[in-house]
Amino acid sequence: MGEYSLKNKVYIGLGSNVGNKSENIHKALKLMAEIKGVKINKLSSLYKTAPWGRTDQDDFINQVIEIETELSAIDLLHDLQNIEIKLGRQRNGKWSPRTIDLDVLLYGEETIDLEELKVPHPYFAERLFVLIPLAEINPGLGLPDGTKIEEVLTRARARFEGKGIIKL
Ligand code: AMP
Repeated sequence: MGEYSLKNKVYIGLGSNVGNKSENIHKALKLMAEIKGVKINKLSSLYKTAPWGRTDQDDFINQVIEIETELSAIDLLHDLQNIEIKLGRQRNGKWSPRTIDLDVLLYGEETIDLEELKVPHPYFAERLFVLIPLAEINPGLGLPDGTKIEEVLTRARARFEGKGIIKL
């Protein structure tokens, strides 16, 4: 493991709906791999998904990755925000088009309720584009509230009928 141990298993959601979307995701992955104290363990497939919230915008490409990190959740969030800025993300309001969006979905088994960081991510259980790739890379995943990813996914599929998401 080298000079430190990377103990917290963390899941990050990536999304892009502007420009060359898969290239944006690829660039973000490269920059994440360069963060000191972060090791990328697993990548989900890429998924093409219908826009959420505001539907008058282009489709997204989404992916979920599993990392191991020694960084605190807040330090990790700030590093991810720097990557968003580096890749030219413009903040034009809630749910507006974005070059790259990086969300901390889960941070180990922790529940975090800070102004700038809420984990599990607030819309976690309602988003098939998060749940499906998460279950792909870790089907047995347990959530901080004691439920299993498969249960949450089954409930979300029943509500949304699996609409609006295609595995690439
Ligand atoms: P958005 O523009 O939708 O990417 O929202 C970004 C804002 O969400 C930032 O101000 C973050 O501080 C906040 N935020 C809260 N919880 C999280 C999380 N789990 N991952 C990423 N951003 C978060």
